Amino acid sequence: MILRHGIKLDQQKAASLRHKIQDLPTAENQKKTEWLPLRKGELNSNAIIAAAQAAGIVDEFDGVPLFRKLKKLRRLKPDMIVACCFDEDPCTTSAMATLRENTNAIIAGLVLAGKACGAKENKIAVATKHEAKMIQKINPQADLILAGEMYPARALLKRKLFANRKNAAYIGAQACAALLAAIDDGEPQTSTVVTVAGDGVEHWRNVRARIGTPLKELLEFCGLSEKTSLVVTGSSITGRAVTDLNEPIAATTRCVIALKKAPNYKEYPCIGCQRCARACPRGIVPWKIQQEMQNAKPNLVRLTNVQKCIRCAACTVACPSGIDLTGAVRKAAQLKKSGDFIDIT
Ligand code: SF4
Ligand code: SF4
Repeated sequence: MILRHGIKLDQQKAASLRHKIQDLPTAENQKKTEWLPLRKGELNSNAIIAAAQAAGIVDEFDGVPLFRKLKKLRRLKPDMIVACCFDEDPCTTSAMATLRENTNAIIAGLVLAGKACGAKENKIAVATKHEAKMIQKINPQADLILAGEMYPARALLKRKLFANRKNAAYIGAQACAALLAAIDDGEPQTSTVVTVAGDGVEHWRNVRARIGTPLKELLEFCGLSEKTSLVVTGSSITGRAVTDLNEPIAATTRCVIALKKAPNYKEYPCIGCQRCARACPRGIVPWKIQQEMQNAKPNLVRLTNVQKCIRCAACTVACPSGIDLTGAVRKAAQLKKSGDFIDIT
């Protein structure tokens, strides 16, 4: 029997993908960095990493400075580096939109990143066959890999590659394009593409905004409603509520969701359906962890695999009883790390 992992979510991408990426007007012009673009003969690993550092490029998916990631990957020697050009969150389309409009720049940036870390293969990961066809029309040389639409697609693709003995590492689509701009034109990374969505804005859009711009400017550009009561950044699933709309946009602000009404979560008893276990990409059985964590002194041996949790919240989303399984697994991992448990081994 083939066990499928992950969870299928209702996609809400069409509205923001209908339009081209729009530029948020900014007063300041982009400043060039102080180094000259690299010439072909100078493109060795050290020079590429130095250019990524000088341009201040940050991977939009994990917030890691690109030069640091490339240095680490050079030591680890991955079989494959994968440009992450899909958005696993159902409301976010910033990676897809960036790929559609900058296909060749992303491919070229990925090749440079691959050269910097000595990867044997470079792949562009897209979500669907439809997306793959679209990209191959733009560049038939694009070496694509399908991530699928199950959530969390990043973890599931990595797991699939690992099962095929491919040790793969991700680099964000925007980071790839920024690397090419740094090397070809000496441009620093000063802007990022953000998806703006939710019923609290009039226009669902992908907007290229200057890093450091207050979120309020971005939301007003998309027609922020006065009735908006909650703004979330990051993702509709694992995102964080914003308390101050003057908060600056960061390189990792891939999505901003404005809602008129905050969701009302109610918790019901577990019905033993196992959906949480099927959704988990890391082999954790969240309902068992949650039950164990309800004991005054949880037992170490029953908190299996909790350190492997990537906080994707697929288990919580899958649960029909609305149980905060992600929170329970996180607490279990903290408890295990702290050593404050009953060790019966
Ligand atoms: S949050 Fe952790 S336990 Fe829940 S599905 Fe993701 S990896 Fe599994
Ligand atoms: S998904 Fe929710 S209801 Fe189903 S087994 Fe897991 S915790 Fe229980």
